[in-house]
Amino acid sequence: MFTRHLTLRFTGQFQRFQSTLLIAEHNNESLLPITQNALTAAKKLGGEVSVLVAGTKCGPIAEQIAKAEGLSKVLVAENDAFKGFTSENLTALIVAAQNQFKFTHIVAGASSFGKSLLPRVAAKLDVSPISDVIGIKSQNTFVRSIYAGNAIQTIEATDPVKILTVRGTSFEAAQLGSGSAPVEPIPVTDCDTQLTTFISQELSKSDRPELTGAKVVVSGGRGLKSGDNFKLLYDLADKLNAAVGASRAAVDAGYVPNDLQVGQTGKIVAPDLYIAVGISGAIQHLAGMKDSKTIVAINKDPEAPIFQVADYGLVADLFKAVPEMTQKL
Ligand SMILES: Cc1cc2nc3c(=O)[nH]c(=O)nc-3n(C[C@H](O)[C@H](O)[C@H](O)COP(=O)(O)OP(=O)(O)OC[C@H]3O[C@@H](n4cnc5c(N)ncnc54)[C@H](O)[C@@H]3O)c2cc1C
Repeated sequence: MFTRHLTLRFTGQFQRFQSTLLIAEHNNESLLPITQNALTAAKKLGGEVSVLVAGTKCGPIAEQIAKAEGLSKVLVAENDAFKGFTSENLTALIVAAQNQFKFTHIVAGASSFGKSLLPRVAAKLDVSPISDVIGIKSQNTFVRSIYAGNAIQTIEATDPVKILTVRGTSFEAAQLGSGSAPVEPIPVTDCDTQLTTFISQELSKSDRPELTGAKVVVSGGRGLKSGDNFKLLYDLADKLNAAVGASRAAVDAGYVPNDLQVGQTGKIVAPDLYIAVGISGAIQHLAGMKDSKTIVAINKDPEAPIFQVADYGLVADLFKAVPEMTQKL
């Protein structure tokens, strides 16, 4: 009792009961899949889970996530200040929500969105952000990968509010079923910080599945030798309904745009099948794909490190092997 009294005096965010705020990631038209993975992580923390949906026209998104089982409520904030989802304005909103509801945990996916947003929230609340969580052992003990996935760290957080970004590939997607959580608007005041102004964005369009959500990924590296040669991989990917990824060397050489990069400084993927073509298997690349369920490597060098993580390896010239595979499928 004495301890709790002291904690209450010294930390405004202390909350006796466990309650988590999940920040939904969406584009005002659809919910991004990582939100459903992050929801599974939020539920693992135990206690109540509320979701915050902020945007310009996000009512339908709120209704959609309200169908998840076991939510206590969905908070909606619609305002022009959230155009472009700038982290500065969203931070102001989340801090206001935290002051009102006193959550014990705030969670988002470890996407570019979450990675930009939650460290700011943590700074404003004067607590440490806990990034890239891959496991939840208890309400205050978390597992995260460090050194490009070469070490796994288990940490116990003592901050009164735990601010977590969670890796989508480490948690199953929560289903949106027959839940009916109440959807409540929350006031938006002083959220237009004027620190940044959204001007425009250009999104790449593709008929192929999105890289981080695809069940099959075909990735190419420097071994492809040119952007034109990536056509070999697009043909194979089309047969497999796969997304196409790339190593950083292939991106840096200009073969493909950088939104295809897989790895430590690119996207983290964990598909059912990952086919690495002409990729050596540097640790920074492995950091982004080694949790894939089945890894296939095609490389002409039998000593290439990628074969150490591959379930199936083909030592061959990719220019011969890939068209043959595509033809046989
Ligand atoms: C801080 C930092 C962050 C980084 N982040 C990333 C990251 O996010 N993602 C990433 O991928 N890298 C990253 N890198 C770069 C990484 O270290 C490697 O340089 C890069 O992954 C190498 O790409 P690659 O395998 O395509 O090229 P290479 O290492 O040059 O390998 C090319 C491979 O193609 C094979 N090959 C060549 N021709 C053929 C052929 N005809 N048929 C079959 N095989 C062939 C070769 O045997 C070779 O194994 C990072 C590096 C640093 C320092």
